[in-house]
Amino acid sequence: MFRTTKRGKVCACSGLFLSRRRFMAAAAAAGAVGFIPAESVQPPPNPVFGLPFAGEPSLDGWSVKEWYGNTTFAYRMRQEFYRSGQGLHFGIDLTAHCGTPVLAIGEGVVREVDGPRRAWPHHLIVEHTGGVYSLYGHLHERSALRVGDRVGRGDQVGVSGDSATAQCEGSPHLHLEIRTNHLRSATNPVPWIEADWPAAPLGWTGAAFQVDLENPTRWQSIYDQPDVQFWGAPLNDYARPWP
Ligand SMILES: [Zn+2]
Repeated sequence: MFRTTKRGKVCACSGLFLSRRRFMAAAAAAGAVGFIPAESVQPPPNPVFGLPFAGEPSLDGWSVKEWYGNTTFAYRMRQEFYRSGQGLHFGIDLTAHCGTPVLAIGEGVVREVDGPRRAWPHHLIVEHTGGVYSLYGHLHERSALRVGDRVGRGDQVGVSGDSATAQCEGSPHLHLEIRTNHLRSATNPVPWIEADWPAAPLGWTGAAFQVDLENPTRWQSIYDQPDVQFWGAPLNDYARPWP
């Protein structure tokens, strides 16, 4: 129904030129929301953000619990936990004791404090330049910041909590997302954040990636993982999965 020209989206049925905004509105009105193409935001050639925790990763401090993307854990839980994320883990999980200060990964403006994009029990979203957002999920307490507050890189935005129990006995960790496309897409945080990721100690759940035996080399590294369009079709309903 729509085709792309140098001038933008054109409705092939009428030849009508539409701006992206009008195209999105028309597509939404036609019930074609799932087919709206995402605005492309490419990862930077060099990381532009810092880590959300102070100090180097270690088993006593913070470590990687689950990578972003096509993890084996996400595959197993793709219908339960990750349905909205096309079956993928749409952030990176970093283990840390409850109460560990969580830092803004970059300069920006607070856009959401415990808003509709929930990551229980509390969360916060910061907008950075270029249409890029960071989401800090499973915070232990409601952040003291308010929508509209400016934060600098490294400023404390909250304290880390637990996704399972308020007493921090379940799964203490920070779920960190990088979103684009007006918060409708998530992208792999690894190329955005300055860290020695390959050397980070690993937790148990998401250290490996699920293999599609029809295409066994796809999405098998911490750098090569697809973007998620929230509520899009599952990407990993594999006919021949391994393991
Ligand atoms: Zn997570």
